[in-house]
Amino acid sequence: MSELKIDDRLWSTKARNLSPYVPGEQPQHDNLCKLNTNENPFPPSKKVAEAISALLAKQADELRLYPAPESDELRAALANSHNLDSNQVFVGNGSDEVLALVFASFFMKERPILAPDISYSFYPVYAQTFGVELVKIALEADFSIDPDAYRQPCSGIIIANPNAPTGLLLSLVDIRKLASEHPNAVVVIDEAYIDFAQVEGANSVSAISLINELDNLLVTQTFSKSRSLAGLRVGMAFGNASLIEALTRMKNSFNSYPLDKLAQAGATASVLDTEYFKDTCQQVIDLRQSLISELTALDFTVLPSQANFVFARPHDGDASSVASALREQGIIVRHFNTPRISEYLRITVGTAEQHQRLITALKELNA
Ligand SMILES: *Cc1c(COP(=O)(O)O)cnc(C)c1O
Repeated sequence: MSELKIDDRLWSTKARNLSPYVPGEQPQHDNLCKLNTNENPFPPSKKVAEAISALLAKQADELRLYPAPESDELRAALANSHNLDSNQVFVGNGSDEVLALVFASFFMKERPILAPDISYSFYPVYAQTFGVELVKIALEADFSIDPDAYRQPCSGIIIANPNAPTGLLLSLVDIRKLASEHPNAVVVIDEAYIDFAQVEGANSVSAISLINELDNLLVTQTFSKSRSLAGLRVGMAFGNASLIEALTRMKNSFNSYPLDKLAQAGATASVLDTEYFKDTCQQVIDLRQSLISELTALDFTVLPSQANFVFARPHDGDASSVASALREQGIIVRHFNTPRISEYLRITVGTAEQHQRLITALKELNA
């Protein structure tokens, strides 16, 4: 096949100037140990497939007709599970889409937005897409977030909590402080990994518990990690009804049906299966602890992760070589060749079998 030559003559200036997000690779070989994109090692609740099959078995009309534009049942189930009103819940086609609508709804203003210098790499991409100035606030030397560093004029703040790729958790006290110190900015807490966070003595670590108190706080979450449904594409946002209304207006000015019927049915079934959800989250948390111990025993420095991945530095700091050597064994982990973190690897928490394969390979490297 001849190489395709891209001709951008007909492109808008906007399209020409984009630098799109590059997702972690999804290689298709057999027997790969895929620990690079933070997918859940466990399957989704069986109730998800049951709900989708039941819907398809019902009648052909299910797919002939448009889905519920506002995903009412799913939003009601989410609201119910968090003791909220449905008008405090928004859903979208993955939390990436929800975040895009957040940028368009709240951040396209005169003032810049603030985000940690080391965080989810999609934020700078959205900033560029929507013409928003993003000011990066440096993490502390230990990769923690200092809320005092955010005391500057802005139209918004966006922080992943637990942060990616560090896995560190910001406390609710600090989140409350950030939101109350910036009453005229929307503070977005991206809780893609929050269901894996566990703080002794605290009955809630999610900032959802603060939204009735802080009307400029918006919390986003996803079904992709803790609910094992990355392939279904469902994400959500929680906030006061006025913030949710802005997101709904933006959605309906772009795509009124972002969630198809199968996604709505599957996601709703997942929310209703609380027991399975809690059980698999706890298993991931336990596996995370054993992975941290095993890596520490191999002289890795491992940050105290509250997510379903660990951020680990091999003793010589040559993370890039370790990633390449693992790849030769069919084990894929994520290495970011960017300032401050190039000596670290982000390793997704997998099954006990996957961990064994990883640790065996690392021991062979050391030998
Ligand atoms: C995975 C991830 C997302 C995106 O989740 P989707 O719902 O799959 O789009 C958003 N934010 C962070 C920090 C993530 O790691």
